[in-house]
Amino acid sequence: MAGKKVIITGVPGVGKTTVVNEALAKLKSEGVEYQPINFGSFMFEVAKTEGLVQDRDQMRSLDRADQKRLQQRAAQAIARIPGNVLIDTHASVKTPKGYLAGLPEWVLREIMPDVIILVETDNDQILMRRMTDETRTRDKEGTRAIAEHQQFNRSIAAAYAMMTGCTIRIITNADHLLDLAATDMADVLR
Ligand code: AMP
Ligand code: MG
Repeated sequence: MAGKKVIITGVPGVGKTTVVNEALAKLKSEGVEYQPINFGSFMFEVAKTEGLVQDRDQMRSLDRADQKRLQQRAAQAIARIPGNVLIDTHASVKTPKGYLAGLPEWVLREIMPDVIILVETDNDQILMRRMTDETRTRDKEGTRAIAEHQQFNRSIAAAYAMMTGCTIRIITNADHLLDLAATDMADVLR
């Protein structure tokens, strides 16, 4: 059987990577294996080699054409990976010129996901998580802007479902309830 392709999305700071790691740890004990893949890392490898950026948080300010090309390169490389894959990425990227689709037609055509997961939580929780994350250059936004971004991600996810026939699953990663989020994610992956 062909491997399952699952895409994980969520605004920066919602805790996607943390939930993914917990869910994969749960599944491993049952013998269910997924290869975790970070879409942004695939883009960054190329962007760095081309001298376009020095750090991954600079990519969202690149020209739209450059971001498209980096998306295409990443999608093509990821499409060749066999087995079950779990792709950590973004439903939309907030650029200085507006929201950029994270999974436009040229990405979806390559990957054809089975399911897209939206990881969400309350806007004020995301704000707090961003403020305490020293490892990244997070956008400085208020709760209204975060709310708008989360709403936009739900809207654009509907378009992705129309294009691919994939299902859309919303998972809440609330404060102190990481285990619940990881359990929900593992249920989708199993
Ligand atoms: P992350 O580590 O997931 O926050 O990703 C780092 C950066 O990679 C993001 O800020 C975006 O610039 C870029 N990126 C990741 N996924 C996508 C995507 N699907 N489309 C466009 N850019 C992306
Ligand atoms: Mg992440």
